[in-house]
Amino acid sequence: MSSTQQGRRKLAIHRKDERHLQWGTITVVGFIHAGALLALRPDLYSTSGLVLFVVFYLMTGMLGVTLCYHRLLTHRSFQTYKWMEYFLAFCACQALQSGPISWTALHRIHHKEADDEPDPHSPLVSFLWAHMGWLFVDTPGATTYEEYSRFAKDLARDPVQRFLDRYFFVLYVLTAVIIYAAGELYGGLGLSWLVWGVFLRTVALWHGTWLVNSATHLWGYRNYKTDEDSTNNWWVALVSFGEGWHNNHHADQRSARHGQRWFEVDITYGVIRLLGFLGLAWQIMEPRRSVVAKRIDIMVDSEALRLADARAKAAESILHTQTDPTVPVSVPVMASAAEAYERALSSAQEAKEAVEDALRHAAEALRHRKQEAVEKMDLQVRQMLEGAKDLAMAAVEKAKFAAAEAAEFASQASAFAASAKDRAAESARQAAEQSLLLAQEAADAASRAAEEIAVAFKGISRPVISSAL
Ligand SMILES: [Zn+2]
Ligand SMILES: [Zn+2]
Repeated sequence: MSSTQQGRRKLAIHRKDERHLQWGTITVVGFIHAGALLALRPDLYSTSGLVLFVVFYLMTGMLGVTLCYHRLLTHRSFQTYKWMEYFLAFCACQALQSGPISWTALHRIHHKEADDEPDPHSPLVSFLWAHMGWLFVDTPGATTYEEYSRFAKDLARDPVQRFLDRYFFVLYVLTAVIIYAAGELYGGLGLSWLVWGVFLRTVALWHGTWLVNSATHLWGYRNYKTDEDSTNNWWVALVSFGEGWHNNHHADQRSARHGQRWFEVDITYGVIRLLGFLGLAWQIMEPRRSVVAKRIDIMVDSEALRLADARAKAAESILHTQTDPTVPVSVPVMASAAEAYERALSSAQEAKEAVEDALRHAAEALRHRKQEAVEKMDLQVRQMLEGAKDLAMAAVEKAKFAAAEAAEFASQASAFAASAKDRAAESARQAAEQSLLLAQEAADAASRAAEEIAVAFKGISRPVISSAL
């Protein structure tokens, strides 16, 4: 991993004279570090304590800080239910990294001022300053609630978030007491659980999170030429559940997905997708195409991208007018493998949705058919059935077309992969294979839907509808 910044700039501490020591923070951070040192005592080790460490590290670090404070509250990378947001924010409070409003506000200031003097924690001052030094003094303009809540007005309007912001420390202490008491009841393991499940876990996550502020503005590689010094760093990504792909994140802050290249594993994004699958998250933001096109390993030139966009729009209008699936599909030529892959995926997705539509209509038709004897159907029921049939058939056609389109785009991506440079080839090939698979699935599903519809309408002939209507 090579550093990208030679002759790095230096920053002074912003408004240094106005910063007073935060004795409360210094005491608590010192005390908990001292508590964590007790983990060196072998007699305080227990397997159940280690399990608590892991469970709470995941709960507070991945679900709490990374998924909730950062991607949900600060950047609104996805939507979820209010109760879910509160539960996740509660988990984050257990990380003892300040309350939701304060955390969000400080991080928004970081993005606004990144690696300029007002940045609350730029390592261009010094590594230790960015890592933890800044926590022990005031941040001028964002120290009191009145000051910092101006940067998170959306959260400050919510009474539950205000409560969590005010009492996060109390909630942390209460949980620690409960963990200690539970350990004692479990078998005299109170102190062991406290040391491993609370102190050591808190300290480990602190440093994991702080590395995002320090290391990923110093060491690693860059996918994007952003106007600060953010980097992508695999070992920070590992301990912070994907937050180490920090240069990608600065390039496209709204995206729920920080890891972008095949080796940039982003566990938190996977969890968000899982929540989406379970119906607990929606409007999950993906990296913007116009941003990804500027990635150093892809670098589509902007004119080509503009033309591709225009062609994609034209292709969309074909999609909405095409009705006959036997007509061969012609798709515009994309400017890069990544672009072709993206189009293939979205077409496959469209096909999948159309198939689901078709299946729903077919099921509805079947239900009606059971309710009424076919011979005795009156005109109204027949019309309704015909309507459902038409909708279902249209959906199947759309699915077939979108699937064919996805396959075309996928083959384009594959062709790109074949001719691409080594570093891009592998990921593009994988992408192409994946979209081909999706397209195939969609096409199969479309055929199945068509069969279902045929069954549903067996024996029903088109009614004669009065032309006077
Ligand atoms: Zn940053
Ligand atoms: Zn951020």
